[in-house]
Formats: sequence, C-alpha cells, structure tokens
Amino acid sequence: MFEKEINSIRTLFKEPENFIPLHEPRFWGKENEYVAKTIESTFVSSVGEYVDEAERKLEEITGAKKAVMTVNGTSALHAALHLLGAKRGETVITQALTFVATCNAISYLCLDCVFVDVSKESLNITPEILKKFLDEATYTKEGKTFLKHNNSRVRCLVVMHTFGFSATDIQKTVELCHSRGIKVLEDAAESLGSFYQGQHTGTFGDIGAVSFNGNKVVTSGGGGAIFCNDEELGQRAKHITTTAKVPHPYKYEHDEMGFNYRMPNLNAALLCAQLENLAFYLEQKRKLADEYKKVFSKNPYFDFYEEIDGVKANYWLNVLIAKEDRFVDDFLKEANGKKVMVRPVWNLMNTLEMYRDSFSGDLSNSMFLEKRIVNIPSSVLREI
Ligand SMILES: *Cc1c(COP(=O)(O)O)cnc(C)c1O
Repeated sequence: MFEKEINSIRTLFKEPENFIPLHEPRFWGKENEYVAKTIESTFVSSVGEYVDEAERKLEEITGAKKAVMTVNGTSALHAALHLLGAKRGETVITQALTFVATCNAISYLCLDCVFVDVSKESLNITPEILKKFLDEATYTKEGKTFLKHNNSRVRCLVVMHTFGFSATDIQKTVELCHSRGIKVLEDAAESLGSFYQGQHTGTFGDIGAVSFNGNKVVTSGGGGAIFCNDEELGQRAKHITTTAKVPHPYKYEHDEMGFNYRMPNLNAALLCAQLENLAFYLEQKRKLADEYKKVFSKNPYFDFYEEIDGVKANYWLNVLIAKEDRFVDDFLKEANGKKVMVRPVWNLMNTLEMYRDSFSGDLSNSMFLEKRIVNIPSSVLREI
C-alpha cells in the first residue's frame, strides 16, 4: 500500500536495498583526531580541556550565559530540577507527549508529575493551554502556586521542544509561570540548533537541558549539558554536578550533596569535533526536510509537518501526521518490514504504568497526535 512512500525515502537516501536507520551519527570531521589526542594525553576522564572547550562552544551556539557538561541528558534534567530547589512531594507540570526521561528525572527527586496537553499546531505546550490548566486546577497564594486537589506546591514547569520544533510563545509561558511563582525548565534534549524568534531553545526559562546521546543531532557517545542564563546558577550547576567539591590544593571538602555527573574528557573530545560540523548538519537536515515536503505534498495518507511562524527547527526527526488513524499501523508494519526504520511517537506518559495515577489536564490533542505521528529517517545526508 505504501510502496511509493517507502521508495521515495529510499531514493532520497540513495539506498536501494540496505537498512535505513531513523537517525545515525556522522563522523566526518576531526572525531578520530580529538579522541586520539585525549588518549595520548591520558586525560580521558574527569579532568581535561575538551570539557571546557565544549562548554564555551555551546555558550557561543546557544547564547546561554553558562553551559555545564553532564554525562547525559537525563542527568542534566535531574541536576537542573535539584538546582531549582524542588523538594520531595512538590509537583512538576510537564507535557504527556514527551520521552520518558523527562518524567524519570522528575521522579528521581520524589516529585509528582502532572500532565498537560500540547497544541496540534506547534506539538508543544502553549501559554493558552497552560493558563487554562492553571486556572482550573491550581490556586496562587502569596506568590506560590498549589494544586487544588492536594495542596502540593507547583515548583516547576518542564517544557519539551518536541522533535526539535521549538515551543511557540514560550516567552509568554515563562512570564505566566513566573507571575505565579513557578520555575521553568526547558527539556531541549532534542533541540540543539532550534530557535524561536531568533533565540535558542533552552535559554528562555530559568534553566535548560540538552542531550548528546547517539541518536541526537550531534553526539558525544553519551552526554548532556545544562544551560543557565544566570551566572551564579551556572556556577552552582558546575559545583553540584562535580560532587560539590570546594577548591583546595589537597583536601577533600564538599559543602553540599553533589552529583558525579561531569562529562568525561573523552566524550567531550568527540563532541567538540561534532560541534564543528553542527552548522553543516543543520543545513543538510533542512534540505532533507525540504525534499520530504515535496515528496509528501498532496500525499493521500500523510501530511508532512512543517515549522510554524517564529519557529526555526533543527529538523532532528522529520514528522508525518497521518490523515486517518488507520494508516499509521499499516505504514509502520510495511516500512519496518522493508528495512526502512520508521517509528510512532512515544506512548503518552499518563498511559505508562508508573505515571498512570498522575494528575492530568485535558489531553485531547496529545491523544490525537499519539495516534497520528510517524517519524521517518532523518540522518544527515552529505549530498542532497
Ligand atoms: C533524548 C532525550 C532525553 C534524554 O537524554 P539522554 O541523553 O538519553 O539521557 C530527555 N528528554 C528528551 C525529550 C529526549 O528526547
């Protein structure tokens, strides 16, 4: 049934018969050289200059005042929530349409997840959706916001930039939260290289987190980073992700509970080489998206999802939206059977065993998208 669609993916990837993955890393730059250098220097672990270099490069790319490297994106989220002062029993609002790591990080701190909807147009949380939820389900007293049904303090909102499409009107979302004493963490794990109205994702809220896992736009093998716009918070982020050690010529002094979340120099070396090619990757990913747009225009089964006003996406994973629910399973079966890797969106968080009892707002758009989204192969192509 989907022969034409599958063949056009194969044509774009110039791959007539072999397996086409959803997103594989490219090592076309100085990866070998930099990684070899760390081995020669013996500085493969928690001390080394590639970690500092990666942080400076990320600050340059994103405009964040301070970037702090971590061992992965999940640990960046975990440490970020701790930095925002979240305490056991408090509540964090996030979207039901996200990857499970967002909620896991919230759970590590014994915080409750509460789920809100996303918009069909942006795939993300909007100020309208959030305001409606806050007005219905919370109350604000002396500058702090609490859930009506259990009086739990709402500490934070986690906005996730879905598939690299930035959340729209995010400045308004942040303002709304701040006016009610709610902090904002941006899960920008998927959105390195994505902007909203010219500003990089992960720099709008109080703190941001990004991932450099092997399937993301650029990779350090495993890795992540925390973005802070506040110098002092940035310094604390560095401090608590490196066991909260107080500098001293020889003594082991630690002044608060800390994490061992520092990225090893070996991984940072790989990332530094990858970041040198980020601009090229983004350019090629945009070209692939343009080709997909042509291929899927007037397609009877799917619409190609495009960035909306103000959004500049990194096109990490390209998104199709099925015109009817029933097309999705058949397409997934046929394409994967023919070795073209396509994937549905994640199951909504409120349907997973461990988050089933979490409180939720209206999730009708998320439920619609859960049944309609398909991700198609999106690796960087050298020529297109
Ligand atoms: C990839 C991802 C993470 C986690 O990153 P890791 O580096 O794999 O820990 C978190 N949130 C979202 C939305 C992601 O896509």
